[in-house]
Amino acid sequence: MTHADIIAASGLTEADLADGPLAVFTPVDGSEIARLKPHNRAEANAAITKAHDAFLAWRKVPAPRRGEFVRLLGEELRREKDALGALVTLECGKILQEGLGEVQEMIDICDFAVGLSRQLYGLTIASERPGHAMRETWHPMGVCGVITAFNFPVAPWCWNAALALVCGDPVIWKPSEKTPLTALAVQRICDRVSKAFGGDAPDGLTQVLIGERDLGETLTANPKVAIISATGSVPMGRAVAADMSKRLGRTILELGGNNAMIVAPSADLEMALCAIVFSAVGTAGQRCTSLRRLIVHEDIYDALIPRLIKAYEGLPIGDPLAAGTLVGPLIDQDASAAMTTSLDKAKAEGGVVHGGAKALTETHGDAAYVHPAIVEMPAQTAIMHHETFAPILYVVKYRDLAEAIGMQNAVPQGLSSCIFSTDLRETEEFLSAAGSDCGIANVNIGPSGAEIGGAFGGEKDTGGGRESGSDAWKGYMRRQTNTINYSRELPLAQGIKFDI
Ligand code: NAD
Repeated sequence: MTHADIIAASGLTEADLADGPLAVFTPVDGSEIARLKPHNRAEANAAITKAHDAFLAWRKVPAPRRGEFVRLLGEELRREKDALGALVTLECGKILQEGLGEVQEMIDICDFAVGLSRQLYGLTIASERPGHAMRETWHPMGVCGVITAFNFPVAPWCWNAALALVCGDPVIWKPSEKTPLTALAVQRICDRVSKAFGGDAPDGLTQVLIGERDLGETLTANPKVAIISATGSVPMGRAVAADMSKRLGRTILELGGNNAMIVAPSADLEMALCAIVFSAVGTAGQRCTSLRRLIVHEDIYDALIPRLIKAYEGLPIGDPLAAGTLVGPLIDQDASAAMTTSLDKAKAEGGVVHGGAKALTETHGDAAYVHPAIVEMPAQTAIMHHETFAPILYVVKYRDLAEAIGMQNAVPQGLSSCIFSTDLRETEEFLSAAGSDCGIANVNIGPSGAEIGGAFGGEKDTGGGRESGSDAWKGYMRRQTNTINYSRELPLAQGIKFDI
């Protein structure tokens, strides 16, 4: 299939790809695949007003009926999985199996949200006053603005949108300027779903704004946007948080990670080896949950690291659309340059680098393919505190578990973490209050590849937001506490007498 065939199969038309100043490139070979006309701020504000009007209607549609919209979305995504998965691969460069996997995550969260639409439960609470009842009610919150990053161009939208829609909130999406085509293709799917759903899907229930950060800033500035869920870098999250705090708006922040694995002496090294390679080089190291720091007990270091270096030497690097490829390209040349800079810094800090050179330069010179790198470090130095969005795996030795957990927690980010150990005392200590400080802590499984059933997100510089499963839905609703007096008296709380 040619690149043009993949775009056409996703349902995008000439009208969607109208000639404009926003150039879209595929990391597969670095070529331009579209030029889009971005929205301006006035158009963005008009879209927000439309979304707010949609909110006034959508909040009155019963939640299980809102769930029906998401059920239809899941059905449509099932039909479109192959076409959309290939477009994800074309636009962001992850291998086809991962592109399809991303669409599967969208389908899974739709299934979750459909069930949720009948389970937006509040509490009943014991009142201290006779003849009184108390309860907690969850109501729709308002327009939800979703800002997304290039590396997961569609799934994070759906983690937010599927929940927001059943919670009664219209969704307005500002995708990465590097991956707008997938967002347009998803919007076409939503348009079909709206039609199939019938009259009570208000105009403007889901919308897409194409453009750069100024459109994200338009969303954060407009008080009609009640919630901003933003996925991306830490600097972006700080800017969004500052803008939203000016108007005390709600944020869900899903920012950078710097994820570690501790490999203990009792670990099953076959399992560990496989988990390390998948989580460090999958998506060419461009996942927020990619493994970046490997903390290995000194007694097993020599049994593990030479095998790891050998496994890296045999990795199939190439066209992510081709069968058999495990490592696709970086998003662009800037990402490749950032990788080189970090490797130079690591060397200056005493690191020994294995791999890390550019790859396929003769056949794919305009693209940014690299050999994933392993860097043996003398200690956890400054560069290891930084997230470089590329396949660099730093390796350090440890002597006792407290030292390993201390290193794991010593970085600014707090997204994902894991331990490989068959010693129950060690694994429980790692999961305890004094263990990993991350939002995700795993045992005998790598840090990447979360399932949608659990709440997803992390602490510290990762932003503290939670999306997807568990009770993350509460982030999209407003909580109301109700006290109902069904007696003929008016007793005051705390026994206060107020005689008039
Ligand atoms: P980025 O921060 O450059 O851009 C992300 C999005 O934010 C884009 O849509 C961009 O236009 C927008 N944006 C930038 N500045 C903004 C501002 N001031 N106001 C509003 N919007 C703004 O990130 P990227 O390079 O696309 O993605 C890589 C980063 O995303 C990595 O740090 C990665 O760890 C992180 N990420 C985190 C998660 C997570 O769930 N925690 C998931 C995927 C990616």
